[in-house]
Amino acid sequence: MPTTSAWHGGGTVAALTIDVDAHTPVLARGRHYATHTSTMSHEQYGLDVGVPRLLALLREEEVSATFFIPGWVAEHHPRLAPTILEHGHEVAHHTYAHRSPTDMTDAEQRADFTRTLEVFARQKVPIAGYRAANWQANAATCELVAEHGLYDSSLMGHDRPYRVTTPRGQFLELPPHWSLDDWEQYAFLPDPHVGSIIQAPHTVLTMWRDEADAHARHQALFMLTLHPSLTGRPGRAEALRALITHMRDRGTRFARCVDIADAAGEDPQLTTHTITPPPTDAYR
Ligand SMILES: [Zn+2]
Repeated sequence: MPTTSAWHGGGTVAALTIDVDAHTPVLARGRHYATHTSTMSHEQYGLDVGVPRLLALLREEEVSATFFIPGWVAEHHPRLAPTILEHGHEVAHHTYAHRSPTDMTDAEQRADFTRTLEVFARQKVPIAGYRAANWQANAATCELVAEHGLYDSSLMGHDRPYRVTTPRGQFLELPPHWSLDDWEQYAFLPDPHVGSIIQAPHTVLTMWRDEADAHARHQALFMLTLHPSLTGRPGRAEALRALITHMRDRGTRFARCVDIADAAGEDPQLTTHTITPPPTDAYR
């Protein structure tokens, strides 16, 4: 088959994704955390310092990225999504309040999904993709993504783009993975306990550089997930810059998720997966 119709265009493709969760993962653990001033300041840092620093870094390195933003964050910070668009990046759906879809009823999830689309529509921000909070999608999530004609980035059934069939149609999956998420490397908060790791940036750089080289060799999609409150810190931002340099020196092309999804939609060789649950008769 010719490589011109392949999702990667015959080269190596990577996506930098930045989840601007702000206060939502903490408030999802309990609304009383709104009065924990120190904890809230840690989350506010991502908006006030992390986002501008990462936007500047991406501009300097001439990389386009995809920013997944909860509707709550976009609504309460109305210049955020339009500013990100003005920088040439993509904005995508990341639930309304960063509650895991698996913790919501189907009706709650549908309302959450639509409410977020309405926020972005009011801000004239086009939405082509979705990522479940905490990567905890269920069958109802998949059906909503298909119903709205979006791509998804929540499932981990492959390391290349793939198609997912649901009763409400197909969608394209751009799979993430925990090993390429800065949360698992840097997230530290004592209360609520969302993580207890403060990894050295050079260690993370080494791991991600090795992963990038291996992804290139296996023609896999290098899907990096970052959070402004974490990778927006100076040493971690510079590790990201070194990673971008390393990958670009080896010929990797960085693309927005929407562009990767568009190219994947033309690729006849993509695999197709279903969301049928495994049998559970042997289990309680
Ligand atoms: Zn998130």
